[in-house]
Amino acid sequence: MKFTHYPLLAAVSLASLGALTACSDAKNATAAESSAASATALAADSAETATITTAGNATAASIGGTPATIPADKRADAATITARPQVPILCYHQIRDWRARDSKGAKDYIVPVDQFKAQIKMLADSGYHTILPDQLFAYLTTGAPLPSKPVMLTFDDTDLDQFTVARPTLDKYGFKAVYFIMTVSLGRPNYMSKAQVKQLSDEGNIIGSHTWDHHNVKKYQGQDWVTQIEKPTKQLEEITGKKINYFAYPFGLWNPEAIPELKKRGMDAAFILAEKRDPQDPLYTIRRIIASGYWSPRTLHNSMVNSF
Ligand SMILES: [Zn+2]
Repeated sequence: MKFTHYPLLAAVSLASLGALTACSDAKNATAAESSAASATALAADSAETATITTAGNATAASIGGTPATIPADKRADAATITARPQVPILCYHQIRDWRARDSKGAKDYIVPVDQFKAQIKMLADSGYHTILPDQLFAYLTTGAPLPSKPVMLTFDDTDLDQFTVARPTLDKYGFKAVYFIMTVSLGRPNYMSKAQVKQLSDEGNIIGSHTWDHHNVKKYQGQDWVTQIEKPTKQLEEITGKKINYFAYPFGLWNPEAIPELKKRGMDAAFILAEKRDPQDPLYTIRRIIASGYWSPRTLHNSMVNSF
């Protein structure tokens, strides 16, 4: 396996599996964009998120609690969790300028540097506040308030440009993010090193588990759970010195059988892509959308409003 080409292969196989809805979202968003009054489009989501209870930005992180401090009997049931308004969650992969050999499908996963900077600037200019998984967990399980206009930024697959390009861009606005690490890539060319992952964690970002080598969770049997979930998670805990509580399914693909296996291995929540959540286990099927490389800031905003 050529690891330097892996993200591209992952992108292509994801598209061929039909798990990717970003393309159709992009079309819908573009249609919505042309019909929306441009002056009001960026403010249009205030009604959408108004039903999320919000609090002062400085206090929201501390009052919510964490999976370790919120007892099981104080957590809302699945129906209550499912009924709460969803927080928009964006999923990024590579942040770099397009190359001639990048396929049409791959460009959903490769956001050009200026496009990325413009997307993040739009979020900041529009008054969004980034939240982290513990805040989302507390909100979903207890109704704890969130900052106004909450959004979660997530980065998958350990790509180096997430450290060299995304990190300084987010820093500019005081934004924090979640980095879902596939551990096989650590230290390989064009991927982050262990020291960089540790630095992201030390700087207040959250490190999540994204398997050892990106195999589809639906196909795991027996020892695969150790290889793909247990060992990589332990390695990330050794690197960061913190417990790892959150998981992102490779390709967003999951099945109900995977959920008890994740629970057994210390995961408190897991993230899919744009498909439907599991009504029995909404914490283990939290939705995200892929922020496409084709999307202008306005299209991204429309997609956030329309998808959550
Ligand atoms: Zn991935």
